[in-house]
Amino acid sequence: SAPAPLAVLGRDVRVPLATGGEAGYVPLDYAASAPALQRVWDDVAAYAPYYGSVHRGAGYLSQLSTDLFEQSRETVARFLGCRPGDEVLFTRSTTDSLNLLAAALPAGTRVFVFETEHHAALLPWERAEDGEVVYLPAPHTPEQAVALLDTALHGAPKGPKLVCVTGASNVTGEIWPVRQLAAAAHRHGARIVLDAAQLAPHRPVDITALDVDWVAFSGHKLYAPFGAGVLAGRADWLDEARPYLAGGGATRTVARAGEQVEVEWHRGTARHEAGSPNVVGAYAIASACKALTEAGFASLVTRERELLARLRDGLAAIPGVRVLSLFGEASERVGVLSFVVAGHDSSQLATDLSALHGIGVRSGLFCAHPLVRTLLGSEPDAFGECGAPDAVPGERSLDAIRVSFGAGTPGEHVERFLAALA
Ligand code: PMP
Repeated sequence: SAPAPLAVLGRDVRVPLATGGEAGYVPLDYAASAPALQRVWDDVAAYAPYYGSVHRGAGYLSQLSTDLFEQSRETVARFLGCRPGDEVLFTRSTTDSLNLLAAALPAGTRVFVFETEHHAALLPWERAEDGEVVYLPAPHTPEQAVALLDTALHGAPKGPKLVCVTGASNVTGEIWPVRQLAAAAHRHGARIVLDAAQLAPHRPVDITALDVDWVAFSGHKLYAPFGAGVLAGRADWLDEARPYLAGGGATRTVARAGEQVEVEWHRGTARHEAGSPNVVGAYAIASACKALTEAGFASLVTRERELLARLRDGLAAIPGVRVLSLFGEASERVGVLSFVVAGHDSSQLATDLSALHGIGVRSGLFCAHPLVRTLLGSEPDAFGECGAPDAVPGERSLDAIRVSFGAGTPGEHVERFLAALA
């Protein structure tokens, strides 16, 4: 039998139903934000009385907070298998991490990105100075993804290049061939950043073993509370770049020089972390990294596979359900799956699952509009006019339902979802 789920917050939350009763809440939207681990919450609560400003105060609690903040960096570095010299920056989220890297690209960098990416990985790159963004078409197998990248890089002119890829899709849950994509990037002298927002909660992400240059992820998808994320990897481009945020903490010296202000910026993590850092967020992420490492990804993956198999069998037994996939039926997935039901509007189904059954899923285009259009584009008109929250105004409603789960999900939640949908 599957290992037990990890203890998460919100297990006893009851929600009102439209029918007048109430039900225990079933969170199946882990891909948006996972419930925090009880262990993470307890660690944060134990630390809270010792709050102090980081990197500034002489007081005991300031020193303690500074130590905890820096130790959190080391914990994350171990969790990600960082190389000597790699930097771990605390940011606000994956979106923030990727925007930070985009702001740090050397002038003229060509960025290669699949059009199927989450918008957070698709959109930040246009800002690179004198740069260019090359959008790669949707691949239909992992091998094709590698071949498409290889061909594009082969034909690219000299100059700095960056590839941005997802580790696991937030729409289909499918795992991308990161190691092979990294090898292709490096063969052509390009750097590669991994968007691990969906992969890190489900699989070990080892920057050395995958041989990627940077990794980005969000705390709130990794069983920590909101507000903090990570960008980890090579220091050189980051140390050469203009600071992401200009302000206190990022500067070594500031002095008036005639009409100007002359600034010498720090190198290293301080360069991009101006302002008072989110020590609680960093500490919570480190706590989540420790908890996942102790639980062991082997056992988390075993559970996930069992739940996923049950979910897929159950969905296959419901008439009209089509599970969305870019790489085909047999592809390896994390606990994230989107589907449509012929003749039913996805957003209405999602609304009903909540209002009538207390089940939280998501419907829409999942901030990956080009991907969802590719997945649904040739679908006969099985969708109603009721648009998803992020549907495109004036377009026929194209949206799907996403069900996603994780380390805190008991088998009973999958059963309740299947029964309700049926
Ligand atoms: N990339 C992927 C694959 C995601 O799923 C998400 C969140 N849906 C993000 C990036 C952005 O994460 P955040 O909203 O925490 O910045």
